[in-house]
Amino acid sequence: MALGEFELIRRYFAVPELAFAHADVVLGAGDDGAILALPPGFQLVMSIDTLNESIHFPVNADPFLLAQRCLLVNLSDLAAMGAEPVAFTLAISLPSADELWLAAFSRGLATIAQAHQCPLIGGDTTRGPLAITIQVHGKVPAGNALLRSGALAGDVVYVTGDLGDGAAALWWLLDDARLDHSALDSRHIDALQQAFYQPDARIGSGIALRGLASAALDISDGLASDLQHILKASASPALGAVIEESALPMSPTFQRCIPVTEQVALALTGGDDYELCVTVPVANEKAAIAAMKGLGVRFTRIGYIDNGEGIRIKTISGQQHPLSLKGYNHFSESRQV
Ligand code: ADP
Ligand code: MG
Repeated sequence: MALGEFELIRRYFAVPELAFAHADVVLGAGDDGAILALPPGFQLVMSIDTLNESIHFPVNADPFLLAQRCLLVNLSDLAAMGAEPVAFTLAISLPSADELWLAAFSRGLATIAQAHQCPLIGGDTTRGPLAITIQVHGKVPAGNALLRSGALAGDVVYVTGDLGDGAAALWWLLDDARLDHSALDSRHIDALQQAFYQPDARIGSGIALRGLASAALDISDGLASDLQHILKASASPALGAVIEESALPMSPTFQRCIPVTEQVALALTGGDDYELCVTVPVANEKAAIAAMKGLGVRFTRIGYIDNGEGIRIKTISGQQHPLSLKGYNHFSESRQV
């Protein structure tokens, strides 16, 4: 690289906009390791995700937006644990030291890092095909993390936000013929771009649902597939769920650009939504609704947990049928953006 590795780090990563102070960070980037010190009574929550060019994001993706997505999808995992962000590390592989690209990437990261008070405390910078790995570190009061296990028959199933926007955005990025491009004006295109590059990391919701939700996760592979994870992790002995088709929350953009015949399937199985799916004991339902209302987050009851087999869909006419659609699975399907 024309620009040396250390100078690159100094100019674009070890910058005050990214490497700002945090009460729980004793030592940030610059040494062989960073040091965190959590307040007594807290546990550290860690999560890591890699985004590879042409698999997880398109070639020539806007670096400012790409940086935002990389950090937001990681923060979404902290949200699903009910954790508060503390700091993140970044391992980046770059084909070249393109300073325009790096400047925009650094600015994009900084907007999200600042919005969530989650500074960059170190990383690794190498040359190679563009790949971005971020590890986020968060904290929860000991024993209070939201887990996938804990759902019981009788609990109700809620989701934050809308479903299917991530999948619609992918159709838009891939120029998929099923998307009704003629129905889109610039506001819809902005909404789709935002759904892909700037998904809301529901940190506030996750924190507010501690002690209220019995199980939680963020929807990355599609509601149906992800809800199965809760059913499996919570199984005692076996749990199922009924999801009401008519309750699935869909955004105006989604309803406008996705054919009516595809909407339910996409809302159920489309990935990349990064909304929270939680189960709530009936006794906590009112408090959970009030908490989400206080945050201004759409919170929709979409069904309930029972002892039946698998996920069943209750159609608008009231019939129930087993869900046969599968969420996106990295190993069963090849996906390229
Ligand atoms: P070492 O050789 O000891 O592994 P490096 O040369 O990889 O250290 O990194 C030097 C310093 O720069 C370390 O403190 C590291 O955390 C930091 N650093 C490297 N890459 C990044 C990055 N992409 N973002 C933030 N900090 C980084
Ligand atoms: Mg190193």
